[in-house]
Amino acid sequence: MTAAKCRLCGSDLTQTFVDLGMSPPCESYLEADQLDRGETFYPLHVRICSSCLLVQLPAYLAGEDIFSHYAYFSSYSDSWVAHAKRYVEAAVERLGLDGDSFVVEVASNDGYLLQHVRDRGIRCLGIEPAANIAEVARAKGIDTVCEFLGEVTGTEVAATHGKADLVAANNVFAHVPDIVDFAKGLRALLKDDGTATIEIPHLLRLIDDRLYDTIYHEHYSYLSLITTQRVLAEAGLTVVDVQELSTHGGSLRTWSMPTEHATPQSDRVAQVLRDEREAGLDTVAGHAGFADVVSAARDDLVEFLIAARRDGRTVAGYGAPGKGNTLLNHAGVREDLLDYTVDRSTFKQGMFLPGTHIPIHPPEKLAETRPDYILILPWNLREEITAQLEYTREWGARLVVPLPRLEVF
Ligand SMILES: [Zn+2]
Repeated sequence: MTAAKCRLCGSDLTQTFVDLGMSPPCESYLEADQLDRGETFYPLHVRICSSCLLVQLPAYLAGEDIFSHYAYFSSYSDSWVAHAKRYVEAAVERLGLDGDSFVVEVASNDGYLLQHVRDRGIRCLGIEPAANIAEVARAKGIDTVCEFLGEVTGTEVAATHGKADLVAANNVFAHVPDIVDFAKGLRALLKDDGTATIEIPHLLRLIDDRLYDTIYHEHYSYLSLITTQRVLAEAGLTVVDVQELSTHGGSLRTWSMPTEHATPQSDRVAQVLRDEREAGLDTVAGHAGFADVVSAARDDLVEFLIAARRDGRTVAGYGAPGKGNTLLNHAGVREDLLDYTVDRSTFKQGMFLPGTHIPIHPPEKLAETRPDYILILPWNLREEITAQLEYTREWGARLVVPLPRLEVF
């Protein structure tokens, strides 16, 4: 078999970062009548390029195949819309945008962000590949082109609509298979003195906080500032500033400009690069050891579940997020170790988790069956969910989070 090639520099990918085995696409929830059929599993084998250090999952699943996945992003939470509003306010002030400016957002979804741009009287355009979602944005009055972004599309859109002062790609960069072509698309959309912002889950946080359940097939690249700079440089873009955000367990927002017009880099760029070097992210060897950390975390979870079963205790799950599917499939947890899970999404209720076939019930199931332990799968929302589950303390339920370290409380 020929080795997969690095999507940034084209080298053979011979080094493993972590191998989570075979897993179905994490958003492929199953109906009852699908349980007796075959299910397609794909590798979750994450590599690191020994030439350019880009940590990446080969495109086992192409972008077009997971198209419908975008449907799940359509109803952003209140906190996400508020995040977008704060971003727009900060960008308008920082770049001095006004009625003469033009803003483009890539993966603009239903216009959750651009509505704030429009409300300030600034011309804007969305680029969104999912036709049904683009239609929702247009109905709200947000002009939207239905395309995947690449250099060709970016050039065409700029020729038709003009070049942009600001291009936002805040929830997409890590999720495009051809990341260099995408970055060239960003450059094609920009005026020579324009600015592009991207937001990426930060590899440093993934490693430090053991966020291996954020690894899934549509998450193609696991970026540091070191590698992000390299990708953008291929497209003629230079990072001039960076912010550390708390979203997705710890993200970076980079501000970049066409290289020939770039302003000097901020101290924050130097600081994040220093942090990454201290953590070893400037060498292949510095990335070693994560696979062992993941195995240990998996062992802790499985040991807990087996011990609970031997003691005659019952364990139910809370939540059915995509990340829970990475975790449970990797650990080989089935209904024998986790009776069921519950989710507030009526779409998921009555369905089954991909791969593990664990049933998803409405939250009321917890009060009916009174499990001894409740495993919180979206453990990043631990505080919020702990408050929601306060009523389960009545029957003495204890709550469990699997990561960053298994904890029963
Ligand atoms: Zn490479």
